[in-house]
Amino acid sequence: MTETVEMDDARKRYEFKKTLEKLESKQGSGTELITIYIPPDKQIHDVTAQLRDEFGQCSNIKSKQTRTNVQSAISSILSRLRYYKNPPQNGMAVFCGTVQLGGDRTSLDCTIIEPPEPLNLYMYRCSSNFELEPLREMLEEKNIYGLLVLDRREAYWGFLRGNRIDPVGGVTSTVPGKQRKGGQSSVRFQRLREIAINEFYTKIGERASAIFLAEKDFFERFKGVLIGGPSPTKEEFEAGEYFHHEVQKRIIGLFDVAYTNEDGLSELVDAAKDALKGMDVVREKEYMNRFLKELVQEDSLAAYGEDSVRKNLELGAVDVLLLSSSLRKSRVRIKCQNCGHSEERTIHLEPGKTIEDIIPHTCRKCTAPLVVDEEVDIIEELTRLADQSSTKVEIISNDFEEGSILFSAFGGIAAILRYRTGL
Ligand code: ZN
Repeated sequence: MTETVEMDDARKRYEFKKTLEKLESKQGSGTELITIYIPPDKQIHDVTAQLRDEFGQCSNIKSKQTRTNVQSAISSILSRLRYYKNPPQNGMAVFCGTVQLGGDRTSLDCTIIEPPEPLNLYMYRCSSNFELEPLREMLEEKNIYGLLVLDRREAYWGFLRGNRIDPVGGVTSTVPGKQRKGGQSSVRFQRLREIAINEFYTKIGERASAIFLAEKDFFERFKGVLIGGPSPTKEEFEAGEYFHHEVQKRIIGLFDVAYTNEDGLSELVDAAKDALKGMDVVREKEYMNRFLKELVQEDSLAAYGEDSVRKNLELGAVDVLLLSSSLRKSRVRIKCQNCGHSEERTIHLEPGKTIEDIIPHTCRKCTAPLVVDEEVDIIEELTRLADQSSTKVEIISNDFEEGSILFSAFGGIAAILRYRTGL
């Protein structure tokens, strides 16, 4: 039976991020690690033609070791590309080369990644490390925010996509200035002016709402609206509920900005930086607070630590599994190639470290080299258990107090239970 597990975006990003970290830690001894980015519209046979050409040019490489390693990597890539008629839907990234394992040992390592978003570049690079920047860019936040700047004379709107501002359009008003012309009664002038302002706000609200609501996957991705401008214009606009109600209820905040044309959008994003940072952690914070509150209850529905959480997951008793985004924990079996002695260890990976940096390199019994026989990523193992019992998995970042407590005080693994198990 094949199970299809619907992973949410946060988890996909987390898995993707871990893969990139692993690749990032790999080093070649010379310029012998090959990176290839293949966009979806590139012909595979064009790529293989270039690879054969590069193979031929290897004779120019002075170091014999580097030459041999580059040629092995190219051969390995060519044999893997044979399985592809065309690149996958989003293209593919190939990382291949002889990486150092510590203790003078090396291994030919090949990873093919089908990226979460379409690749838009072709690249062949040979270096002492893998080129990861195009994939790292895909890790940027995919949330969208609506932007609106306005005063009584003009308004401009657009989007904030990840870190990019996307200006869309604006409108100017015919609201008369504050000074009335001679002959008009003051009361009548004020009345006309208010009508004109109201009409202008209505027009802004309708047009900007239509643009925001037309955004693809509005209900999933549209996280809120920022309004900028002088006072009291922006306050008036918010209080008057000129936006469509689905947009109105997503207003995050009002911010003072000087410009109300296209330039005002980036001024608005700068002014709202702290508010935006807060948005990402609001939900995670709620889960952590629920967990911490449970923890002190007499009939506590909280569990933490790898063992306890694993047992509860196996029972199907976990409602929400909380995992720290900083946690990199593996269980590895290391084995002596000479005498067959093997041992199991649980290791915590720090950024930039590989498993080989941490494990002992020589056998206790015969001093022959040890190799990693098996590696189990504990986070992957726990999330797989969670998927089997429809448990919600929340990846909790370290960027706020309760989040860092999960990592420092609870080993990065905690759970809110469906019922009490005493485990
Ligand atoms: Zn041994």
